[in-house]
Amino acid sequence: MFAPIHTRKVRKSEAARFAPHIVVAALFIVMLIVGFLIWSGREIDRIASERDRSIVSLVLAQSIERVGHAQESSTVWDDALREARRRPIDQDWMDLNLGIWFDQYAGFNEVYVLSSESVPIYAMRGGKRKVPETYIAIEDVADPLVMRLRRTRGSGKVGVGGVPMISPGASDLAILRGRPAIVSAKPILSDSGSIVQKPGSEPVHIGVVYLDNDFFARLGSNYGLAQARYEISPSRAWGEASVPLRSRDGDVIGYFVWHPFAPGSEVTRSVGPVVLLVLLLSAVVIYLLAGRLASRTLDLEESRSEARHQALHDALTGLANRAMFEGRLDAALSRCRREGGLVGLLYIDLDRFKQVNDSLGHPAGDALIRQVARRLTSEVRGYDMVARLGGDEFAVLVVEPESREAIGQICERIVAEIERPFDVAGAQAFIGASIGVAVAPDHGADRTELTRRADIALYKAKMEGRSRFTFFEASMDEVVRLRETTNRELRQALLDCDEQLKVFYQPVYSTVSGRMVAVEALLRWNHPVNGLVNPAGFIQQAEESGLIEVLGGWVLRKAVDDAMAWPDLRISVNVSPVQMRSRAFVDNVRAVLNETGLDPRRLELELTETALMSASEEVSASLKALRRIGVACALDDFGTGYSSLSHIRDIAVDRIKIDRSFVHAVNTGPGAALVEAIVNVARANGLNLTAEGVETEAQLSHLRSLGCHEVQGYLLSRPVPKGDITRLLEGGAHSFSDTGTESS
Ligand code: C2E
Ligand code: CA
Ligand code: CA
Repeated sequence: MFAPIHTRKVRKSEAARFAPHIVVAALFIVMLIVGFLIWSGREIDRIASERDRSIVSLVLAQSIERVGHAQESSTVWDDALREARRRPIDQDWMDLNLGIWFDQYAGFNEVYVLSSESVPIYAMRGGKRKVPETYIAIEDVADPLVMRLRRTRGSGKVGVGGVPMISPGASDLAILRGRPAIVSAKPILSDSGSIVQKPGSEPVHIGVVYLDNDFFARLGSNYGLAQARYEISPSRAWGEASVPLRSRDGDVIGYFVWHPFAPGSEVTRSVGPVVLLVLLLSAVVIYLLAGRLASRTLDLEESRSEARHQALHDALTGLANRAMFEGRLDAALSRCRREGGLVGLLYIDLDRFKQVNDSLGHPAGDALIRQVARRLTSEVRGYDMVARLGGDEFAVLVVEPESREAIGQICERIVAEIERPFDVAGAQAFIGASIGVAVAPDHGADRTELTRRADIALYKAKMEGRSRFTFFEASMDEVVRLRETTNRELRQALLDCDEQLKVFYQPVYSTVSGRMVAVEALLRWNHPVNGLVNPAGFIQQAEESGLIEVLGGWVLRKAVDDAMAWPDLRISVNVSPVQMRSRAFVDNVRAVLNETGLDPRRLELELTETALMSASEEVSASLKALRRIGVACALDDFGTGYSSLSHIRDIAVDRIKIDRSFVHAVNTGPGAALVEAIVNVARANGLNLTAEGVETEAQLSHLRSLGCHEVQGYLLSRPVPKGDITRLLEGGAHSFSDTGTESS
């Protein structure tokens, strides 16, 4: 019925929903950063290895050049040219200047000298002179170089204007004897220019330098290339780089392999773990912060939903409040309009709740309301709704009942259930429930109309005697309209009170002296259309609308004013229980007495039993205060309410007015006995007695014989206007032997 606050569950599931998002986001960021780290490392490595490659190429080119330079020291020399041409060859000279010398001072591995006709005339290998024919071993590589050299010299492309600073030559990388080698061919030229020879026909000096592992190791250590070496094929080892060694024709003759310095990977390796750790820590921190944030959000959400709950529920019972009920009723009605079906609306008002609240106290009243709420809830189905509209008013929404009879059955059960006694404050409380029922669509299709009609039906149920349920009927509308009209007109009458409102006075006579001793003030409404209206037609409504306070105040003031003209008479004024409950009432009485100067002992206030029996604290306080200032109180209509004879002594009044129903029965046997009993008990308790509604002489003589002090009734006089009382008093005709008539 009421929405439970399931915040715990919400919190858990919400947090569970949050967590994966945060984890995924954090992981994504970590991956992004790590990825960037690796990528930038690779990039740095790539740039570094690029640099290594260009160094390798440069060093190789320089090495080849150096071989040529070394040759020039001996090949551009008149003596060398002369010796190359001399026949027979002076092999010793050759060893000393063109052969072994190169081995010792320039690190050449092999040297060959070819004649102008390209015939080998000298050979050196490994520091030793060899027969010139060993040239055969390298001729495949060397011959094309020599031919190229002679061709370029013959074409005159080089050496314009005598001998160039750097002599022409042809060189190549090649595999010789299964090893990589630099092969360089240089022409032997005259340095002085004194020996003339035809370009292209010079003797040729050929140097061979093997690129052995020493060479590569030296290259590596000079340029910071770790593990530099020669391989016939590229290295497949992880972290190694290879650069192909190419001949002039582009043939790959092997690979320069080394372990490149990878600064990027180095940085990644050393910094990576730290970065990863920092990232993971930040991810944890973010996760925790996000968790905190999420729980804050949830707290906020919780307090919001609590506020929502409070806004829609009654704090005392936990039932829906009016706002929520109206929302549900609207929803049910719109569904009813769309899809058909019935909607039952029950307005429930507790009977006698006020008495329990007044006599047992507010905490007991609260406990009672809570128990009522529980019983109501247990009598409806789960999808129906019980709401507390305020005070002791409840409402039930019956969703899609099968029939009107089904609604009636629910009402029956509720009435029976609320009639069962309640245990509150250690006592048993007996209350009841009056229910007004309106059913959509029969009694209205919208909320305002339906609730108005349920309210009318409730009013009818109360009027018909409480602890019952009443379905709305069309005829009730008429009653209500009348009531509303009356209310409006009564309000108007109060604005125009001197014209429309009159106070009549009914004389009260002593049975002993036969003289008029008092008058009772009775209100009349001189309605502009309906003429003179008796209080029965409007007092109750004035009580319900609250107008009675103004109305009663006006009557009191008027009656006391008028009574100033009759110094010997007591003046009785009727007071509604509604007036008695108001704190302002006693003050008002005191003010009227002060302003008029009326002796308080001449004023008597008539209260009905229900007013006195309600035992409300306010009423008994007012009663006490009134008696303190000397104002008397009479119990009106005695015998019509609940009070029994034995109660009389407990009631703080000065007079009892026997209701006219007893007076009319006084001439019958049981009636006479009853009145006699009342008279005896009243006298025993020192109370005064007035009999109302005396209409016949028989009644009068009977009452007098029973010892009733005062009488009042049509037999003696009807209620009359102020002037008639004055005339009665002046004319001396104020003995009950005269029969008055009510005039208007
Ligand atoms: P009540 O206090 O019992 O007043 C006596 C009622 O009985 C009066 O009716 C009066 O006209 C009527 N009555 C008097 N003698 C006879 C009789 O011999 N036979 C019959 N059948 N009736 C008799 P009324 O004036 O219509 O007033 C009705 C009720 O309205 C009063 O009953 C009283 O309870 C209430 N009422 C009248 N004026 C006021 C007022 O100013 N303030 C309050 N709170 N109630 C008033
Ligand atoms: Ca009265
Ligand atoms: Ca009365």
